[in-house]
Amino acid sequence: MYKRQITDIPLFTKQYAPLLINHKRVPSPADIFCPVSLTQTEHEQQCLATLESLLANEHEQICALILEPLMQGAAGMGFYSADYLESALALCQRFGVHAIFDEIATGFGRTGKLFALDYCEVKPDFVCLSKGLTGGYLPMSAVVTTDSIYQAFLDTKLERAFLHSHSYSGNPLGCAAALASLEVFDQDQVLKCNQAKSARIEAGFEQLSQLSGVGSLRGLGMVWAVTLTHPQVSSAQLGLAVAKLARDQGLMIRPIGNQLYLMPPYCITDDQLDQVFITLQQACETVLKQEAPAGYTHPSLLA
Ligand SMILES: *Cc1c(COP(=O)(O)O)cnc(C)c1O
Repeated sequence: MYKRQITDIPLFTKQYAPLLINHKRVPSPADIFCPVSLTQTEHEQQCLATLESLLANEHEQICALILEPLMQGAAGMGFYSADYLESALALCQRFGVHAIFDEIATGFGRTGKLFALDYCEVKPDFVCLSKGLTGGYLPMSAVVTTDSIYQAFLDTKLERAFLHSHSYSGNPLGCAAALASLEVFDQDQVLKCNQAKSARIEAGFEQLSQLSGVGSLRGLGMVWAVTLTHPQVSSAQLGLAVAKLARDQGLMIRPIGNQLYLMPPYCITDDQLDQVFITLQQACETVLKQEAPAGYTHPSLLA
């Protein structure tokens, strides 16, 4: 009864493998999983074909498709198109399967629009919200759904209601912080102001990509990423080495393996962004530039 699992990242699931149900998984359309032999568009087409055949064959056993729209975060900051989303939503509708968007990372302006679903004509049935809902000032999360789902639980009989709340559901302080944060979106025209910041972050990463060993620049709105490679340093250590050097300069980043990304708060100033890239540039130069002989351990890894 308590078996559930939606991530496909072994680090998070391996320990519990015997307890978990073997839910269906479809290949991710994200660019970081695109085989070298395919273009990103071909990759997305193939992923859609797999999704379509799964839904066609097993839709009666499947209640919902859950996905992170436009960007997969913890998987390594991979991006894919709104076209994939649109087609996936259309398939869900065709086969009577609900679509759940996990917008915890993408919601509240991260991808350039208020929600990733704003890139789509067709809408999901459920949206998970958290992080940006309060601007991070207080913990607050929500699952938003359609009127028809709401109506399915609306009844004079208590047993029909959705009785699975949490002790602090609708916490008034959390709600106040969320409302205040949403007000700032309007008052300060946050989405509009972010456009210039987005361009600045992209330009910063473009500059960083001039270094050999920095590549695969990708991103959208206020989230951008590059991939680091080094012939002698393992992927797992590369991001850590850069993060340690950056931390010595007062910049805290959290790379995922060798995926170096920025997802800054929207109140970051141009000067602060410039400082971020000066620090990253120096850290990456130090970590990537050295030509080490085989078997050599990078000094920044010994700290
Ligand atoms: C952070 C994150 C979560 C976890 O959110 P909680 O509010 O802590 O449950 C889930 N999904 C995505 C995409 C996230 O980025």
